[in-house]
Amino acid sequence: MRLKFLGGAGEVGRLAVFIRTASNGVLLDYGVSFDEHDRPVFPLHVRPKDLTATFLSHAHLDHSGALPSLYVSVKTPLYATPLTMELSDLMYTDAIKLSGYYLPYTQEEVRETMSSAIPLTYGEPVEIGRDAVLTVYNAGHIPGSAMGVLEIEGYTVVFTGDFNTTDTNLLRGADVYNLPRSPDVVIMEATYASTDHPPREKLEREFVQSVKEVLEQGGSVLIPSFALGRAQEILLTLVKHGVEGYPIYVDGLARQINQIVGRYPHLLRDPALYRKALDISIEVPSTYVRKGVMDEPSIIITPAGMLKGGAALYYFKRIAANRKNGIFLPSFQAPNTPGFEILSKGYAVVDGTTVRVEARLEWFDFSAHAGRKEIENFVKRFPPTTKIIFVHTDPLSASSLIHRLAQTGYDNIYLPTAPGDEVYLSTS
Ligand SMILES: [Zn+2]
Ligand SMILES: [Zn+2]
Repeated sequence: MRLKFLGGAGEVGRLAVFIRTASNGVLLDYGVSFDEHDRPVFPLHVRPKDLTATFLSHAHLDHSGALPSLYVSVKTPLYATPLTMELSDLMYTDAIKLSGYYLPYTQEEVRETMSSAIPLTYGEPVEIGRDAVLTVYNAGHIPGSAMGVLEIEGYTVVFTGDFNTTDTNLLRGADVYNLPRSPDVVIMEATYASTDHPPREKLEREFVQSVKEVLEQGGSVLIPSFALGRAQEILLTLVKHGVEGYPIYVDGLARQINQIVGRYPHLLRDPALYRKALDISIEVPSTYVRKGVMDEPSIIITPAGMLKGGAALYYFKRIAANRKNGIFLPSFQAPNTPGFEILSKGYAVVDGTTVRVEARLEWFDFSAHAGRKEIENFVKRFPPTTKIIFVHTDPLSASSLIHRLAQTGYDNIYLPTAPGDEVYLSTS
């Protein structure tokens, strides 16, 4: 068996892994990254005719964004959960709207991709080729996200996609207990290989406290959030901790995603809380309504999570100058984004103008990924003989963890560092 890392090798983003066996060619995720000019960066090419199946772990573009480029003429069966497919459809449409010029596909290839989908249910094995069976389990990362267990021609492969073993308000932690005990290989994300996340309860209390303080002083709170996953988690956190009496607005793509996710209550940790959150929150349907949102103290949850665009920028320009207001960033901020700039310098240049932040500014670590400790515990679920492969991570942060694990007997860990790196496995 040959594993080829087409993307996500030594970097966070554009994950793509190609598995070649005697009679199968399986692609695990096929995502894009975005460069500093917001242009998509693709994984290495794979010939659609070499594929017998594709598996999509979840609907974030860094895992899904390049898939439609493989559906121009060949219709490879695409395995994913129904929620992942529904969300991907929306994400593709949005990506085409924002950067269609740079994408090698159009709505037509998106339609082909959607019509190639074969729905997966957590815990139910599905035959996906010759002597190949795929079973998926909740990955705890975003709604619909799945870890895959692939039994293929005598090998057992675990692929985590993005995963989180900690319960959040939105989802239960990943179903790691269902994974095989000693697979041949585990391909896992290690985004936070060198960072521990704070305890969830403490983080939530501090976040809600900050939000309340701003509102009680008559200010408004802007919470720029990724549309898929983070926006829902933030809304649930506010509702769970009883931030009531102030309007909670939801704007941008998060509105549609809130509704789609609400149609899959059985996947959520607390469907009643989610229902309540949807009932309480107010969707901003138009620019006209948007103008009136900050007339009174209010909370605004909106993409983009790093203030790179979307409705968040509209609010940012209006909220930043007033010390009474708050801007709370609950997501990772990549360098060269306005979110990163304001945290490091106190100002950002948006649309050619410098906007200085006088409002209260804070960052909160609401991660949806396993942290250092969880990654370490996850590796140790498997025997040291299992080959572990760290993808979707920065080599610098992964290497110290690899070093520490090696000292405890886990010295069978591989870190691909460039697209095109390969691993060969043979049955013993
Ligand atoms: Zn993700
Ligand atoms: Zn990812």
